[in-house]
Amino acid sequence: MTAPIAKLSFWGVRGSTPTVDPATWRYGGNTPCLELIAPDGTQFILDCGTGLRMLGSRWGTPNSGGNPETHIFVTHYHWDHIQGIPFFAPLYAENNEFHFYSFRSKFLGRDSLKQVFEAQMALPYFPVDMSAMNAKRKFKEVQGGDSFTIGENKITTRWLNHPQGCLGFRIETPAGTVAYATDNEPGDPKLDESLRELAQGADILINDAQFTPDQLKTTRKGWGHSSWKEGVKLAREVGAKTLVLFHHDPDSTDRTVDSLLRQAREEFDSVFAASEGMVIKLGGTGDDVQAHMPGARTSLRREAQFRAKVSGVTEEGKEFQEETVVRDISLQGALISLQNLPQLQSELQVTMETPGEDGLQSSMLLKGYVVRIDAGAEKGQIAVGVVFTD
Ligand SMILES: [Zn+2]
Ligand SMILES: [Zn+2]
Repeated sequence: MTAPIAKLSFWGVRGSTPTVDPATWRYGGNTPCLELIAPDGTQFILDCGTGLRMLGSRWGTPNSGGNPETHIFVTHYHWDHIQGIPFFAPLYAENNEFHFYSFRSKFLGRDSLKQVFEAQMALPYFPVDMSAMNAKRKFKEVQGGDSFTIGENKITTRWLNHPQGCLGFRIETPAGTVAYATDNEPGDPKLDESLRELAQGADILINDAQFTPDQLKTTRKGWGHSSWKEGVKLAREVGAKTLVLFHHDPDSTDRTVDSLLRQAREEFDSVFAASEGMVIKLGGTGDDVQAHMPGARTSLRREAQFRAKVSGVTEEGKEFQEETVVRDISLQGALISLQNLPQLQSELQVTMETPGEDGLQSSMLLKGYVVRIDAGAEKGQIAVGVVFTD
């Protein structure tokens, strides 16, 4: 008999608002959306941030046994947790069926989430009428303290400390337990206890880590979020196996998140910073949690000194060719020093000489597009940012 396996995918990890700043690209800019496929095939979606669109665009990969049941848990109604709904293509297909779970907000009353749907799609906020949403939708109200089963999985909810309320979800599958606790500020004794119950012994604890411990004590106090340090403390208290830092601040660059992660790793063995595209497998062989990153996002930038021949078109439309040195190379792009001023968004051919084995030189031809021009960085040189397209 093979051991049951659950698969947890991160489609959106950014808090508050999506970011498209290249400095936030590696961890990702989409707002919260997670997907958990339980061993029995049940599909859970946690939150409907902009990451939901990405999940929707990869919908319908063959799944033996027909349509899986999809259960969508919405923690609360702040924009970053609902704004993916109108862009979730599977909602417009008749054969799909979704079960939505969320709480009755005192600001919205009965059928809160249903009202959110209608408000989001109302004119003039969205061009498509609600009637185009053909998928079957069932709405269920839940509240903190509820417990129910879906397939072989046990779900528990708890209130968290967040402006206008927020629910945390715990999903116990035969392959392991995931506790999802985003948008929570520690410091309320009763709600802190409720969070500990939610996270007790979890294999994966996904915890709000938007702010630094300093910000949490000072300028961001009362904003409804947490820090890596609080996450580590909680993970220790409840004996969680792996901590995932989540809901990254839109102002946190990849380097900032790297640093938060580094600090957390000094104090707790198994910590990851949630990253768009990250997949964590629970269960299977061994006790270790296996995390994978999509190849495109794991490529590191490297300091390099490759000699290169560059040919392209200048601002004035003149062809040029020159020899230079390529620095800071990655699979995505490079920063190249040129004397010619290339046209922004034009194509550059970059031939790089790479020192091969046994000192033999070989060359590498790359096609790139000019995405950035920084004249005057160095005397007589123009720094040109290139994104490689193949
Ligand atoms: Zn949020
Ligand atoms: Zn919120």
